[in-house]
Amino acid sequence: MSLDLPLVRGHVDPAVALRESVVPAALVRAGEADVIVVDPSGFVLLDEAEASSSDAPLLRRLAGDEVVRAAKGATASFIGVARGRSVVAIETSRDEVRGRWEHLRAVGWRLDGDDAALALTALALAGWHSNYRFCSRCGAPVQLVSGGWAARCETCDRLEYPRQDPAIIVLVQDHDGRVLLAHNALWRPGFVSIIAGYVEAGESPDVAVAREVAEEVGVEIETPTYVATQPWPFGRSQMMGYQARTASPFPTPQADGVEIEWARFYSRDELTRALESGEISAPGRASIAYALLRDWYGTDLPSGPDGAGRN
Ligand SMILES: [Zn+2]
Repeated sequence: MSLDLPLVRGHVDPAVALRESVVPAALVRAGEADVIVVDPSGFVLLDEAEASSSDAPLLRRLAGDEVVRAAKGATASFIGVARGRSVVAIETSRDEVRGRWEHLRAVGWRLDGDDAALALTALALAGWHSNYRFCSRCGAPVQLVSGGWAARCETCDRLEYPRQDPAIIVLVQDHDGRVLLAHNALWRPGFVSIIAGYVEAGESPDVAVAREVAEEVGVEIETPTYVATQPWPFGRSQMMGYQARTASPFPTPQADGVEIEWARFYSRDELTRALESGEISAPGRASIAYALLRDWYGTDLPSGPDGAGRN
């Protein structure tokens, strides 16, 4: 089975061999790179408007004086090569550059594939840069090297690289094919998703799947099947998607009451009604959670009464 994963549809050549020699700011000054802009909190700068409502929005490429203004004092990273051009991302705050900013979580599913891949990589790096400022061995400040793909300690020379934390996400069905959805205590009321969690140190993802489902909702599953993986830079996760069937035919989920407030199984009709009435809302279309749910449902999930859930 192949899932439609909007953030990894396109292709960016990471041009790893270039990283050691490339100086992103010099590429920008020489006009030898496409320059995109991201806010490390997850936002991307887009072209003001699409040519028509059916066109995909594009990441805005800065030109001329705009580049000079945006690059001043900002971190610039070498993202890779797309459509034959080097791409540099300027990492800045939305307050510094005016324009049409949107969160990748909301707009990612509509972006052109290559632009989505660029945005995903740029935000993964930017998130790491904003969080990793000091050496994890000696505590001294670090300096970005390798085009932004490594950080070197100014005191002890230790090198650190951007990491992604392995996480699992699983669509669980009972023996009637009903899907398990859960509401996390931290989410807005009515928002539900499938079960997910981080892989623990020394644990394999397959084992993590069964453990998370048992911990969060007290349900035993049969051996899970791996489906697909999508990076998710809002929390630097590498989300590994699975499907699984419950061990007993119709178990009753028991929410752990701490992380998960409630959980239940939905038939296709029950889910349709609950989404259309606005009783619950589902994950955004850029997420692997949505892709797994869409695959189970058969088509795009219905929106709520006010168009909610369109993202
Ligand atoms: Zn150090």
